[in-house]
Amino acid sequence: MKINEIFYSIQGEGKWTGLPNIFIRTTGCNLRCSYCDTKYAYEKGIEKTIQEITKEIKKYKCKKICITGGEPLQQKDIIELINHLIDLTYNILVETNGSLKIDSLKDKKNLIISLDIKTPSSKMHEKMFLQNINLLRKKDQIKFIIKNKKDYNYAKKIIQKYKPKCDIFFQPVWKTNSEKLAKWILEDNLKVKLGLQIHKIIWGDKKGV
Ligand code: SF4
Repeated sequence: MKINEIFYSIQGEGKWTGLPNIFIRTTGCNLRCSYCDTKYAYEKGIEKTIQEITKEIKKYKCKKICITGGEPLQQKDIIELINHLIDLTYNILVETNGSLKIDSLKDKKNLIISLDIKTPSSKMHEKMFLQNINLLRKKDQIKFIIKNKKDYNYAKKIIQKYKPKCDIFFQPVWKTNSEKLAKWILEDNLKVKLGLQIHKIIWGDKKGV
């Protein structure tokens, strides 16, 4: 499969925030979000076998792997890679953009599904396959990236309609006002977690961290 980068860093988003993770970033994405911070993963990458990927990640002592993109579910042998890594006793978190069906992930042990639901400011919200939310388990997570009040209200409506069982993260678009988002959450006493991209707070908005 085509891999953009493999690196070791601190997880900056979601329920593993703050924990050391190995990151496997696949190349290619079927969406074009207005605020995308990983455009470098649209095309660039190197074809690697599962054996080559495994050899690379074994350099690190860490047992937590975040598979991200791009959009990992576009890779035809992604499930084979995931199964292989689970057999090697890794804990996996798969970040997926919400537009593709997640059925192939839902029965896996030691795997967390991190489902993005794109809001209107992304300009990709109409491409979401919202029925995915019904497949999420308690251990999974949903991430809404919020730029403004319209996005916030949109995310709120989705939550009210689908009532997800898992953790829900509201994450401001990088460099937008997180204080406003915090205020809206508090005013509504919303049962969501405010997520800040701590890897960017530590290292800035750059590749490989
Ligand atoms: S889904 Fe992710 S990688 Fe794809 S365009 Fe949107 S932000 Fe970028």
